[in-house]
Amino acid sequence: MNVRDWRDVVAAKRDGRKLSPGELQGFVQAYTKGDVPDYLASAFLMAALIRGLDPQETLALAQAMVGSGRTLPLQGISRPKVDKHSTGGVADGVTLVFAPLAAALGMAVAKLSGRGLGHTGGTLDKLEAIPGLRTDLEPERFERQVEEIGCAVAAQTADLVPADGALYALRDASATVPSVPLIATSVMSKKLAVGTDLILLDVKAGSGAFMKTVEDARGLAAACADLARDWGRACRAAVTDMSQPLGSAVGNALDIVETVQLLRGEEGGRLREASVVFAVEAQVRLEGLDELEARARAERALDSGDALEVFRRMVEAQGGNSRVVDDPARLLPRAPVALPILAPKSAYLAATDAEAIGRASGDLGAGRRKKGDRIDPAVGIVFRPKIGDRLDAGDEMGLVHARDEVAAGECARRVLDAVTWSAEPVQPPPLVHGWFGG
Ligand code: URA
Repeated sequence: MNVRDWRDVVAAKRDGRKLSPGELQGFVQAYTKGDVPDYLASAFLMAALIRGLDPQETLALAQAMVGSGRTLPLQGISRPKVDKHSTGGVADGVTLVFAPLAAALGMAVAKLSGRGLGHTGGTLDKLEAIPGLRTDLEPERFERQVEEIGCAVAAQTADLVPADGALYALRDASATVPSVPLIATSVMSKKLAVGTDLILLDVKAGSGAFMKTVEDARGLAAACADLARDWGRACRAAVTDMSQPLGSAVGNALDIVETVQLLRGEEGGRLREASVVFAVEAQVRLEGLDELEARARAERALDSGDALEVFRRMVEAQGGNSRVVDDPARLLPRAPVALPILAPKSAYLAATDAEAIGRASGDLGAGRRKKGDRIDPAVGIVFRPKIGDRLDAGDEMGLVHARDEVAAGECARRVLDAVTWSAEPVQPPPLVHGWFGG
């Protein structure tokens, strides 16, 4: 087919016609090869955004995207294999806890992660705060580590679903990101290209998430779960709260400190609970345990230090200094200034604009404005209170870790601006809004 024929395919979608699997397959193939120009591909994306894609079209698009590059069947792994993916949030360190926890429970986690962009943090950036740690693992080494230790967290290589890399950049540039079928195919193609027995999705909802409302997040979770079902893969998608930072650390080295404290069983709270919730789901689905038993095993693996030992081995295997597990505060990069954030009044915390906190941390240097920017692993925010907590004026709510006093003061002001107070008690939001898929 030539450009004129592809133009007819775009026109068909513009007019609301259902596209055949062959048309979608051919279009994605031709675009990946450079035979469809960007202007036509963005017109296609806009037509798909406005007209929608039905479940068959969504499946065909995902198949075309997975078919655009290599896959990772993971056939050499003997344990039950689980993948866990978050749509992105603030202080969302679940993967760093879940991977060693699931491995300590006998499962295998082969996790391909991304970097932070915008206000959300990225698992790779956090892990790379550990001196020496590498995330660019060759596929064979990645698989061997998963078999030996039970988990590995590595960067997705450019040859896995290359069509998504190209289409995502185009969506970003052409205002066509917010389409449920396009997001679902983008997220799921990268999961479906890896041969796991169970895909767990954490679809975030709230001020710090891509989906600001629970209703929108439910739509995306259902679309992803339906796509996995139509593909013939087991998937469970949870909609979870991101109306406030999940843990306390919004940075990179700071996240690793929090991860280690949690894996030592020293920290409770919503980040630990979210990690346990996913570990329970994985054991129920893959090991056939009942929920109570699965929860008891997960809690034990955290409290006993078993999950911490797996994390230590994973850090070591990826070239990192595993002594950070014993003394994270001393061995990880540290910013020169640590400025306390003080409660301005005595009241209940009613709401937190998690995106604003993520952006404030990003502007300290913890995040990047555009792809390829360097990040500063040492800086960031520790913000402890959660919605519903009662604070007294002058209570320390956390710390800003910055390169200088001016940046720290500006950031602390932005954090306080992101908080809403109430004189009346406030009900904390639920952690899990619901599950989708089977
Ligand atoms: N994350 C992805 O991988 N793709 C999207 O389209 C949105 C979020």
